[in-house]
Amino acid sequence: MIRPISRGRLAPAKNLGGPTAPQHRCPNRPAFVGLRRQCPSSPRYNRHAVTACYSCGKNAADPTSLPPREAIYDDGHWRVAHAFGSALPGWLVVVSCRHLTSLSQLTPDEATALGPLLQRLSIAVESVTSAIKCYVVFLAEAPGFEHLHVHIIPRAPHMPPDRTGIEALKYLAQPEGEWVSPEEMDRVSEDIQRMLRATTH
Ligand SMILES: [Zn+2]
Repeated sequence: MIRPISRGRLAPAKNLGGPTAPQHRCPNRPAFVGLRRQCPSSPRYNRHAVTACYSCGKNAADPTSLPPREAIYDDGHWRVAHAFGSALPGWLVVVSCRHLTSLSQLTPDEATALGPLLQRLSIAVESVTSAIKCYVVFLAEAPGFEHLHVHIIPRAPHMPPDRTGIEALKYLAQPEGEWVSPEEMDRVSEDIQRMLRATTH
């Protein structure tokens, strides 16, 4: 099931396209069918508890408790969130639901899910931010952030030359006063989530 998550409730359990995640039904928490990370009886449960990993902490949270900027999308393989500490609205991160540190560690299902998701996110981000394309970057070098996460960076049409290409990473090094506010991240995230639902294929 592919399930963009809405704030405060679960999205309808309809197939929105793409590969189908393996099913797990928790006998104790039927409302969390499909949200395998929250169920201790899930075969995936124990693979997400890596101490001191920021992404594992977010992955382990009750999805319905997360703000829109942390729960744009979740198909059981990948969770999409708005990047924090960025001065660029629409900068997303695609986070693996398991604690991985390299693309080489992906299962075939995880790898199969990633490609179409990147394409759909590019469509959504370009539509919402008017970007001419999206950069896709995987680094995960900062201490505490080694967890596999792929950056989706909107390339704005009038981005200054010293901020294009790999220099766009400078938008993560701006003074805090220039960061996209939580309110703006939530608004952009909700717009992107709506676009994702419209790009089912
Ligand atoms: Zn992790």
